[in-house]
Amino acid sequence: MNETRKVALVTGSGKGIGRAVAIELARRGASVAVNYSRSEEAARETAEAIRSEGGDCGLFRADVSSALEVRALFEAVRDSLGPVSILVNNAGITRDGLLMRMKDEDWREVLSLNLEGAFLCSREGLRDMTRARWGRIINISSVVGIIGNPGQANYCASKAGLLGLTKSIAREYGMRGITANAVAPGWIETDMTAALKPEIREAMLKSVPAGRPGRPEDVAAVVAFLASEEASYVNGQTIAVDGGMTMV
Ligand code: NAD
Repeated sequence: MNETRKVALVTGSGKGIGRAVAIELARRGASVAVNYSRSEEAARETAEAIRSEGGDCGLFRADVSSALEVRALFEAVRDSLGPVSILVNNAGITRDGLLMRMKDEDWREVLSLNLEGAFLCSREGLRDMTRARWGRIINISSVVGIIGNPGQANYCASKAGLLGLTKSIAREYGMRGITANAVAPGWIETDMTAALKPEIREAMLKSVPAGRPGRPEDVAAVVAFLASEEASYVNGQTIAVDGGMTMV
């Protein structure tokens, strides 16, 4: 990151991958807006981890699936840290179930946060980035957005949608010093995957050439690279961080 302190907003950074991303971006010199929707305590822990290493951050509550809250979130970040130049659309949920039995609200909730939330935040973030003629948008997709997964039609559709969103932003704003890329994690050890049954974990381990699940830090390192000045000629890409699980 260059000498002028960049402001990075990481949605859903109270825990898991978002927390690791927030910590890594702060280590590399960004002022980090730690966003959370419910668990303020977890977000405080992220902030403490950043500050204990001498980093700069602020805490911002907002449900990023709400247009009103997203607008207020960007205003609050602007007022307290400055305009956002790095946006990491990380907040995401699962509501798994077989398609024939999937409830309308399970479809809508997942699309509303995972895909629409990223749209809302990108729209808002691009205001600051186009003004500065510099910006980075990094969308946290998933390998299942590329290859699909039984029982996750809503989640896979949202994650595949993020790839189209990413490429369109890349084409629309590439001329203005802004890049948009997606990171597609495979199996990463977080609360989201903690409930996997032992037999599924066993089967997944066999499909990962690295022979281990990923850590949030494995994803954070790639996000931090994409957020850097050095990545200015990487645009519209999807980078899988999956230990070689998919190789698509
Ligand atoms: P996680 O459940 O630990 O974290 C998700 C975060 O999103 C939490 O901090 C949660 O509070 C936040 N969040 C939920 N609803 C929100 C809302 N309305 N507004 C703002 N924040 C909200 O899961 P994770 O594994 O760290 O997932 C992070 C991202 O990585 C997600 O987009 C997920 O789909 C993606 N991902 C995870 C894996 C994996 O194996 N863990 C694999 C591929 C992709």
